[in-house]
Amino acid sequence: MDDNIVWHQHRVTRAERAAIKKQKPCLLWFTGLSGSGKSTIANALDTALFERGYHTFLLDGDNVRHGLCKDLGFSELDRVENIRRIGEVCKLFSDAGMIVMSAFISPFASDRRLVRNLLPAGEFIEVFMDTPLATCEERDPKGLYEKAREGVIKEFTGIDSPYEVPARAELRLDTSVMSVDACVERLLAYLLERGLIAH
Ligand code: ADP
Repeated sequence: MDDNIVWHQHRVTRAERAAIKKQKPCLLWFTGLSGSGKSTIANALDTALFERGYHTFLLDGDNVRHGLCKDLGFSELDRVENIRRIGEVCKLFSDAGMIVMSAFISPFASDRRLVRNLLPAGEFIEVFMDTPLATCEERDPKGLYEKAREGVIKEFTGIDSPYEVPARAELRLDTSVMSVDACVERLLAYLLERGLIAH
């Protein structure tokens, strides 16, 4: 990095930004196979928190690739850079005092660790969507598994590219046996337990 770039210290602190919103910042990092329910559950939680009056923000896989990461492809290097940028953006939103949710496959433990280490302890909540591959493939909401099986899409996570299961995720949800509402209840209960939300 350029030695002449100096970190500018904000006058309003991170804690003050959160306090004015009467909330504590955190990042709920949804990870799991395509079709495991990351987007669906993150959106449902986002709505539930919003309705309770919390200031939230949701970053979702494909949307980011239309803008912030539109110069990136799917090579290993580009995937790492994709997650790094997303992590940095999530961190900025959390610095602004928001409750942030992100929904990205993020198959590699090292990338997820990198994001975890960007945030203060306790603020990174890894939500492992542990829905079996068979269910994800049966759902195939975007028709991607079919294309991957046909070899039209290469290096598709779960088919011909690995997914590294989180060893110590804060939460594990299997949407083949849990409804959307049940998942949201579990997530809200966790946030309440940890004192990250108050109601
Ligand atoms: P991802 O973001 O992980 O790729 P999506 O949320 O886009 O997954 O897709 C999950 C699909 O599974 C959606 O079409 C959703 O309607 C469906 N689905 C069925 N049951 C559930 C459930 N209990 N929880 C989440 N999604 C479910």
